[in-house]
Amino acid sequence: MGPLMRWWGWGEDGNDPELTPATEALLCDELDVDPSVRRPPARLDDVELPAPRLRPGAHAALAATAGPHALRIDRDTRVGHAAGRGYADLVRLRAGDLSGAPDAVLIPESAGQIPAVLAACAEHGVAVVPFGGGTSVVGGVEPLCDGHHAVITLDLSRLSGVIDIDEVSLTATLESGLLGPDVEAGLNSAGLTLGHFPQSFEYSTVGGWVATRSAGQASTGYGRIDELVEGLRLCAPAGELVLEPVPATAAGPSLLELVVGSEGALGVITEATLRVRPVPEERVYEGWAFGSFAAGSEALRALEQRRASPDVARLSDEEETRLSLAMAGEGGSQRLGRAYLRARRRARGCLAIVGYEGTADEVARRRKRAGSLLRAAGGATLGRGPGRAWAHRRFAGPYLRDVLLERGVMAETLETATCWSRLAQLRGAVREALHTSLVMRGTPALVMCHISHIYPSGASLYFTFLARQEEDDDELEQWSAAKSAASEAIVAAGATITHHHGVGRDHVPWMRDEVGDLGVELLRAAKERLDPAGIMNPGKLVPA
Ligand SMILES: Cc1cc2nc3c(=O)[nH]c(=O)nc-3n(C[C@H](O)[C@H](O)[C@H](O)COP(=O)(O)OP(=O)(O)OC[C@H]3O[C@@H](n4cnc5c(N)ncnc54)[C@H](O)[C@@H]3O)c2cc1C
Repeated sequence: MGPLMRWWGWGEDGNDPELTPATEALLCDELDVDPSVRRPPARLDDVELPAPRLRPGAHAALAATAGPHALRIDRDTRVGHAAGRGYADLVRLRAGDLSGAPDAVLIPESAGQIPAVLAACAEHGVAVVPFGGGTSVVGGVEPLCDGHHAVITLDLSRLSGVIDIDEVSLTATLESGLLGPDVEAGLNSAGLTLGHFPQSFEYSTVGGWVATRSAGQASTGYGRIDELVEGLRLCAPAGELVLEPVPATAAGPSLLELVVGSEGALGVITEATLRVRPVPEERVYEGWAFGSFAAGSEALRALEQRRASPDVARLSDEEETRLSLAMAGEGGSQRLGRAYLRARRRARGCLAIVGYEGTADEVARRRKRAGSLLRAAGGATLGRGPGRAWAHRRFAGPYLRDVLLERGVMAETLETATCWSRLAQLRGAVREALHTSLVMRGTPALVMCHISHIYPSGASLYFTFLARQEEDDDELEQWSAAKSAASEAIVAAGATITHHHGVGRDHVPWMRDEVGDLGVELLRAAKERLDPAGIMNPGKLVPA
């Protein structure tokens, strides 16, 4: 098995950041947080797990498919697979609510065992939740029975081989359970990289990326995972769908696209062939300052539409810029803040991070061209300091979220995308919806936003919101009200309900707005053909 995270939070113990005095002050002053509050997670020994519901016949049949050691019903394994890593998951886990733990966890040794596992589940009425790294933030790995007598989690971590690296075609065929660091280690040894670095990189897998259409921090340049997949194998209850890797095809509508983003609801992705590139000689990330979010957005649009886009393109709005300057480590924050203010000669503005990867020549040429466009759009360069600070901290956010939860602070994110002409309106509508929802319930709130990926026709928006957690077990209602309000604002603005987190359980109520009634029926028809007994990840992706 891969490295299981601590059962109630992110990563491993010992990586939690200390809050800086500036952050402590900010939590008190702006969120009305009581500095003495500590809300530690429940003790594992005090947590009660429901009795496993697998009937003896189903247990015996499953144990026969992959060997008795592959089927686990022990407490630690069930706890470790009980939930993903969204805010609502963490609230429930920290409170010791493990009522949703799977009845069993099955860890096959090879892809060849999976058809028998799915056949046994279909025959015995057991739901199956494919599980890569378990980092879903939309309830994608929640073990739901949905009418079946029991639910197992199918942990794919042992499918962790590099099957083939084609150095001529620049593709790699990888098993689906391979974790991010192992993908890069395997490719780097051949001088190659996938260049796919979601913030969950350390704990997420190839299969999870493909199944959720994930985006990495350099996806503006490298492409999202859906742009990198050339072929794959899907093991469905109805049989195996093999889509051989080809650079392009005109053979009808893309079945590859049907499987990419299928979130375990159609079958198990056992391997994928992905485009790779040479490891870049040089990586340069740098900061730019803009007077406003509108000015910064126009600058990024100009870069993309004039084919001068960087590999990394992020633009924080005024609020995110203010808070990240205030909350970053003291020395770094002050240096960054001083440079920023000097560059803009004003107190408010927006910070952008742009990054280039490639050969030294390419990076120099692209930086020069993009730099002149950014300057022409009103940007002021802040040099490489802010870029280095961003690269250094880019995997630290999830650890900070655990610390904030301990202090009684809700810290949640959501994302969407729309075209450039509607971007400002969308940002305003979602900010307003989140603010109103949280403030109406009596808690001050901070709502931040950044552009995380840019395209010729539009961009994605990534929102982070913080508020003091409501007490008396109302945290989940507080979250649900804010999430619903933001989702309604997103669909009302004609934007997508998700740019890269996927649908999971949390976005199902808005799938009809996204694809319409006929679209839902088409998805359901594909599911019924591939998964006639409806055992694959019920309650996710496809509305009932
Ligand atoms: C702190 C944090 C940061 C994140 N940052 C990003 C980010 O930068 N970009 C981004 O896109 N997402 C991000 N995410 C969301 C999440 O990491 C991604 O959705 C990721 O792709 C999930 O990969 P995983 O291996 O953990 O999949 P899991 O969480 O295990 O599964 C996700 C979904 O895919 C299905 N699935 C998994 N493996 C397979 C398979 N082999 N076959 C079929 N179905 C499968 C599951 O059933 C589930 O529906 C973040 C999450 C967290 C907690």
